[in-house]
Parts: sequence; C-alpha cells; structure tokens
Amino acid sequence: MKLTPTHMFARYDDITPAFLQSIGIRALLIDIDNTLAPYEQPEPDDRLRAWLESLRRAGILAALVSNNHAPRVKTFNASLGLPAYADSRKPFKKNMLRAMQALGVTPGETAVLGDQLLTDAYAGLRLGMPALIVPPIRDKTTPFFRFKRLCERPFIRRYARQHGWQDWMSFWHVHPGK
Ligand SMILES: [Mg+2]
Repeated sequence: MKLTPTHMFARYDDITPAFLQSIGIRALLIDIDNTLAPYEQPEPDDRLRAWLESLRRAGILAALVSNNHAPRVKTFNASLGLPAYADSRKPFKKNMLRAMQALGVTPGETAVLGDQLLTDAYAGLRLGMPALIVPPIRDKTTPFFRFKRLCERPFIRRYARQHGWQDWMSFWHVHPGK
C-alpha cells in the first residue's frame, strides 16, 4: 500500500506556486480539516485567502475535497467559491475524479494536499498523483485518531530518512536518527 508522502511541508502556505510549477503541477485537490483550518474554525482566514490568491495569480487551480459533511464544506467555501466536494470518503476516488473533471485537469498535472496518509495521501497516490502532506493543525486526540497517526509513523519515518528530518515531524514521534 502506497502511503509515503511525496513531499512534506510544515504548513500549507510553504507550498509555493513556483514549487508546484517546478514539479509540473497546475491543480491541487485540497483537504480542509486540519490541513487548511482546524475543525472548529468555520471560515477561511486571511492567511488562507492570501495563499489561494497566490495560486490563482499563478494559474494554479484548486478544489476542496473533504471527507467532512456538506454544511462544513459549504460554509467554509462560501466566500471562496471553489469547486468543493463533501462526504468524499477519501481514499475513494469518486470525488477526486469529479474535482479533476470540474477543473478540466488530469491526474498527471494534479496533486493532493492533506494531513492524513490513509485518506489524503492514499487517495492521490493510488491515482498516480503526488501527495503533499502537512502535519495536522490541531489533531483530534480520540483513540481512533491516535491509532491512525500511529499507523502513519513508519511512512513519515521513511520520508524523513529520504528527505531529511524536520522538527515538526516530531508530531508523529519521528526523531532524527531513528
Ligand atoms: Mg484532514
């Protein structure tokens, strides 16, 4: 099962249009919760607006593909007006494919951005797309989420070995030299 992130960043706005263009990406399918905003933040903040605007100016397309329910996605996207999909059940492909169709792009020029490997990364990687992964902004601490993060650890560790350790990777309890 392919779960290792293709590229990792400390936060979403470390991903620049120039970087995306350098890897041949002209569209992003973006997770909402804990990638762009914590669960309890209903609307986008200025930082997100500025980043989306920088993408737009560079001609990079974006869609929101969320596993959360319609009211959450609708409220969050109300002022953004992006193609947006709720209840996507990532890693299922259906809404990923619908989003690409809406943007008029192919998997070869599209990347996934998210904070979870079992849903976001896998959804992209299984379609041959790069998985851009950030640590969750404010993770849930339920046993289920802790278990999911534990499952992610070996794949984060592999990425850290290949690309160099960053201090924010300690979120997964991955440390240099381990
Ligand atoms: Mg998420």
